[in-house]
Amino acid sequence: MTYVICEPCIDLKDNACIDVCPVDCIQPNPVDNPDEYQSVNQLYIDPHECIDCGVCEPECPVEAIFMEEDVPDEWEHYTQINANFFRFD
Ligand code: SF4
Ligand code: SF4
Repeated sequence: MTYVICEPCIDLKDNACIDVCPVDCIQPNPVDNPDEYQSVNQLYIDPHECIDCGVCEPECPVEAIFMEEDVPDEWEHYTQINANFFRFD
């Protein structure tokens, strides 16, 4: 199980979720990877590192973050999109 970042994050990327994640699994981090951060239009959650704590979900101002099993049907492909960023297939 993991949490997933979906379409509403695109082009917003306000980093509210990054600030609260206890395991630093939301990437790319603009401080650690500024070039990579500039090259993407949304942030992603590493499914192998996420501990399902859920603290990021209420922080998102546009409700882009969902538990994997609660991702809306129209955004189901974002589960794979998040995983692909970390090259896990
Ligand atoms: S659920 Fe917890 S561990 Fe997973 S991305 Fe959100 S804050 Fe990080
Ligand atoms: S809080 Fe929401 S909009 Fe902001 S970076 Fe995280 S997922 Fe994207």
